[in-house]
Amino acid sequence: ENKFSAFSVQDNQQKSEDEATDSYNPADDSLFVKMIRKGLVDNNNDIEVQRKDPKSPLYSVKSFDALNLKPNLLKGVYDMGFEAPSRIQETALPTLLADPCQNLIAQAQSGTGKTAAFVLAMLSRVDPKIPYPQVLCLSPTYELAIQTGEVAAKMGKFCTEIEMRFAVRGEEFPRGSKLTEHILIGTPGKVLDWIRFKFFDIQKIKVFVLDEADVMIAQQGHQDQCIRIHKELSPSCQMMFFSATYNQEVMEFAELIVKNPIIIRLRREEESLDNIAQYYVRCMTAESKYNAVINIYGTLGVGQAIIFCRTRKTASWLAQKMSGEGHAVAVLNGDLTVEQRIDVLDRFREGKEKVLITTNVLSRGIDVEQVTIVVNFDLPVDVQGRADCETYLHRIGRTGRFGKKGIAINLVDSEGSMQILKEIESHFGRKINCLDTENSEEIE
Ligand code: ADP
Repeated sequence: ENKFSAFSVQDNQQKSEDEATDSYNPADDSLFVKMIRKGLVDNNNDIEVQRKDPKSPLYSVKSFDALNLKPNLLKGVYDMGFEAPSRIQETALPTLLADPCQNLIAQAQSGTGKTAAFVLAMLSRVDPKIPYPQVLCLSPTYELAIQTGEVAAKMGKFCTEIEMRFAVRGEEFPRGSKLTEHILIGTPGKVLDWIRFKFFDIQKIKVFVLDEADVMIAQQGHQDQCIRIHKELSPSCQMMFFSATYNQEVMEFAELIVKNPIIIRLRREEESLDNIAQYYVRCMTAESKYNAVINIYGTLGVGQAIIFCRTRKTASWLAQKMSGEGHAVAVLNGDLTVEQRIDVLDRFREGKEKVLITTNVLSRGIDVEQVTIVVNFDLPVDVQGRADCETYLHRIGRTGRFGKKGIAINLVDSEGSMQILKEIESHFGRKINCLDTENSEEIE
C-alpha cells in the first residue's frame, strides 16, 4: 500500500511538471520589464485628471528647468540623459513639488517615468542638514527596492550630502541606535520592524511613497503592513501613490492611503491588429505542428520569430527538436531567474538567436522590433479553457511605434482549438485565413 501511494505521489508530481505553465508573477514581471527597458515607452495619450482639489490649480511643465530644482539635482537629471519631462512627469512633477504639498495618486503603465518622477520629488524634498529619515519609500520586493535606490543614487549623484538607506532583508542595524540617513527605501515588513525598534521616528517622515501598489497588493500580507505603516505617519505627511495598472482593488487601496488626492492617469497606448496578417494552420499532432513551424520558418527565414507554447514541457521539447536540426533557438520560461531572462532576451535582441520559444512570460511589455512572425503553437486560453483574447492581442498586436507589418500564425490541433480560434476571430472582427504550409507562397 505504501509503495503504491509513493508511486502515485510521484506520478502526480510528474504530471504537474508536465503541465507547468507560466502563470504571471507580478513582482518578477515588473522587475524584468524594468530591467530590460532602455528608455521611455511611447505614449501619446493625454493625461486624464480624475480628481483635483478645486482650491489648487493643476500645473503642467514642459521642461525640467521650469521646476526650480536645486542646481545639483537638475544636473543629475540631465546627466541621466533626460531632456524633457515625460507625459506623466509633465503633470506629476509640479504636483509632487508644490508648496504647500499635495497628495498624488498616479497610474500609468511601466516605462512611463513614474519612478524617475517620485525619486526626483524625494531628492528635492529632503533637507540634507537634518540627520534623520524624512522620506520613506515602500517597494513590494527586495529587488524592486534596490532598483529604486539605484535610480535615486544616479539622479542624486551630484547631491553628495543626501544619504540613503535600504530597509530590506539582510540589512541589520544595532539596537538602540538611530538612523541618520535622509531617505529610507524598503519593503513593508522590514520597515515595520525598524519602526518597532525605534530606529527612526516615523512621525518625522514628511514624504511617503508607495510604489507599485498593484504588485504590493499581489504580495501576501503586504497591503496590511502598508496600512499599518501608514497609520503611524503624521497627518501632514505628503502621500505619493503609484500603480502600473488600474482596477477597483488598487483604487480602494489608494483612497485608503491618500487623503484629498489629485488623481492622474495615463492610459496605455492601444495595441492593434491593423498591420498583422493572421493565419491558422490545421495540424492534428504535435509532430505535425512541429513540421508546420519548420515549414513556415523555412519559407520566411528572414527576420525573427517568437513561438508561444502553453507549457514549459512543450517549449523545451520544441526547442530541443529545432536546435537538433541546426536552428539557433532560445527558450524563455518562468524557470529562469530574472537575470537569466534578461540575458536570453538581450541575446535575442542582438540577433544571436533567430527563434525565441516562450511560455506566457513574454506576452506583455516587450517590444522586439525585428520580430516579424509570431507563432501561437498553442492558442492562449484562460483558466476555464476559453479564448484569452487579451493575451492574444499582447502577443501579436503592435502599438503605433512598432506599427510595422507582422505575421501571426496559429496552430490549430483539435475541434476545441478551432472553436477558440473562431472566438478570437469574432472578438476582433478580423478574418484569420487558413494556410496550407505545404504551399506557403500564400503568405504575403
Ligand atoms: P516607470 O517607473 O513608470 O516604469 P521609469 O521612471 O522607470 O518608469 O522610466 C522608464 C525609463 O525611462 C527608464 O529607463 C528611465 O531612466 C527613463 N526615463 C524616465 N524619465 C525620462 C525622461 N524624462 N526622459 C528620458 N528618459 C526618461
